[in-house]
This record gives sequence, structure tokens and C-alpha cells, in this order.
Amino acid sequence: MKSIDQALLAGKKVLVRVDYNVPQNEQLQVTSVTRIKRTADTVNKITKDGGIAILMSHLGRPKGEVNDTFSLKHIISAVCETLGKPVTFLGDVLDAKVEEKINQLKPGDVALLENLRFHKEEEKGDFEFAKAIAKLGDLYVNDAFGTAHREHASTATIARLFPGKAYAGYLLYSEVKSLKKVLEEKKSPFTAIIGGAKVSTKINILKNLMEKVDNLIVGGGMSYTFAAALGFSYGDSLFEEEMVPVAKEIIEQAKIKGINLYLPIDRICGDKFAEDANVIVTEDPNVPDGWMGMDAGFKTRELFKKIILDSKTILWNGPVGVFEMDKFSGGTKAVAEAVAESTKNGAYSLIGGGDSIAALGKFGLSKEVSYISTGGGAMLEYLEGIELPGIKALEEN
Ligand code: AMP
Repeated sequence: MKSIDQALLAGKKVLVRVDYNVPQNEQLQVTSVTRIKRTADTVNKITKDGGIAILMSHLGRPKGEVNDTFSLKHIISAVCETLGKPVTFLGDVLDAKVEEKINQLKPGDVALLENLRFHKEEEKGDFEFAKAIAKLGDLYVNDAFGTAHREHASTATIARLFPGKAYAGYLLYSEVKSLKKVLEEKKSPFTAIIGGAKVSTKINILKNLMEKVDNLIVGGGMSYTFAAALGFSYGDSLFEEEMVPVAKEIIEQAKIKGINLYLPIDRICGDKFAEDANVIVTEDPNVPDGWMGMDAGFKTRELFKKIILDSKTILWNGPVGVFEMDKFSGGTKAVAEAVAESTKNGAYSLIGGGDSIAALGKFGLSKEVSYISTGGGAMLEYLEGIELPGIKALEEN
């Protein structure tokens, strides 16, 4: 995969696939510019080198039809403000006038096309549609890691229309580099901390990690399905009966492969799912009826901390307790602090998933880890071992 650093951008019309699928309020104002901000380095590189950046994205799910609610014109002021430069709105990619508008742009200019998903051909990965987009530019840059798991016209098909001239933008490149660093170029001991609510949403990640990790820490709501697989009672804790065989298989595989599997050794239970719940701390692996496991206990925190501090590579996805409630945030805080400390000691740490990122933010530790992946679904598929079409298209270029 070639980075944008290898591209000759001066005087070139550069088609840049970005992920500006930003959250909006009812007035369609952008409520978080994070996704725009993360493309700034790529856009700045193009404009500084004297290229013309033609940005293109999807927004929401207009299902192949023109729908004003999903128009990118509503986000243009947020794009201008965040990138700190004027951005010309070009309108629809198939509009007869779009080429003329692009021809009026000068080196260093930035422009934005209308929502690509106004055409059903986009999500179908249609070749003719990709060709129509491709004819508007001289080079292609993909900086939309968040949509790299989609085989769409603007994320995968189009790259094949720019042989030798399709590049990864800085955001996409750094996301892939950090995931590779953890999954393929890892230094041992490699510890994965997988938490969160459900086994069912993490099952393929867990299975893929069984081929890679030295230590697997399972925490949070999903640990009670593992406890049940070991024959313990789970009280009113989160539990997925249909996932018990999966948990049993992971436990078995860990034994066969010599992976250290760590589950909570004590827990903080509440008598209801609320901040004002009554609380007990228990070392008994059986959660009493009427109580639900809400957070890792104090001994568990010490255990997890020791393993994390002994690690050279760390992957963390999913909180180990209901961290949104202060009363049950201590376990997740302890994990976040341990990951930060281990990073300071030289470990490489990758944190992904909305809740773990939010937890790091809550404890003021976002800057203390090696890399925070904002790739969402694309990151999860990468962790599952799935080849992402957008990455594959760039790698084969
Ligand atoms: P996920 O999206 O699967 O990573 O799950 C994140 C959610 O899991 C967060 O909202 C946490 O509050 C929740 N969670 C973590 N531990 C528990 C637990 N023991 N019981 C219930 N929910 C939990």
C-alpha cells in the first residue's frame, strides 16, 4: 500500500475518499467534527504540494436516492471551519456541470462532491459509476478507513481505475499500520483486553485473537457468560445462554494453545442497574440471585494491572464494567491507567471501540496510549481477520 507521501501531487486533481459521515442534530448541524479533523493532514498535504483536493464521502443512508436531509451541503461550513480553508461545493458527481466547476479550481483549492450514496451504484461497487467518478481526477487517495470494509464504487472499485496512482491518506495509513503492528508485528507478551456487554458481538474477534495473543483478559458483562460456561451462577448479570458453547470453546482453545485466559476473580455487584444501587463486593465466582455483576473487583484490578504492565503489546476493546456510572467505573479506570503506564514503559497499545475511547477520555488518558482507532466497524472486521476491500484494492494497486 502506497502512502500519499509517495504521490506527486503538484498541479494534480486528487480525488480523496473521506469519511464525513458525521453526527448531526435535528437542524442538520454537525455535532462532532472529529472525522473531518482526522482528514486535515491529508488535505493539507495536497494543498501544500499544489494539488487540488476533490473530497467525496457518503452521509447517512439515503438508499440510492437524492434526499436533501443527507446532502453534504449541510456540512460544508463545518468542513470549511475545521480544515481552516474555503471549500467549494461541487454538487452531484454525475451533474453535467461538475467537470466545468472542477476545471475552474486552482492548485491549493479544496472542493466537496455531493453525497455519493444518492446513487445506488455507489454501494453496489458499480464499475461504470466508479469510472464516472474517476474521470474527474488524476490521482486517487483513500482516507476513509471507517468505510474500508465496504466494497463500494468510491472505496474499492475506483482504486483499480488508477493503476500505480492510488494512495492511502495519512489517516487510513496510520490505522492500518497500527492494526498491523498489533496483529502481525507484535512483540510478546501480547495481551488483549476484551470487555463490553456481549460475547455475541465479539465472538469473531475472540476467535481470531486465539491465533495471536499470549494473554486474553475477558471482562465486563460478557465475562458472566464465561463464568456460566465454567459452571458458576451469574445471578441477574448480563448473560447470553446461546453463547455458552462459544465461551466453552474459547476456554478449551486457550488451554490447547497455551494462552493465559484471565477472568475477573472478584466483582462489584449491584442490586439494580443504576447509580444508586446497593453494592456488594464478592470473591465467590457465583453471583447471588438478585445481584448483577457491574464492575471488576479490587483483586481483579490488581491482577489485570500486573498482566498489562508485563505486556509489550496491548489491544483493548470494551470496558470491564459499567463505566458510565461513576460507582462502577473503577475497574475500567484501573485498566485505562495500567494501559497508560505500560505504554509509558515502552509497550505499544491500541485502543478501539467507542466505549473504550470514551472511557479513556473520561479518565483524561486519551493522549497516554499509542494509538486510538476510530475505525468502528472497519476496525472490528480487521480484528476479526477479515480482509477489508478498500485496503485490498490499495494493496493490489
Ligand atoms: P460493547 O459495546 O459491547 O463494547 O459494550 C459496552 C457497554 O458494556 C458499556 O456501555 C458498558 O456499560 C457495558 N458493560 C460493561 N460491563 C458490564 C456489566 N458488567 N454489566 C452490564 N453492562 C456492562
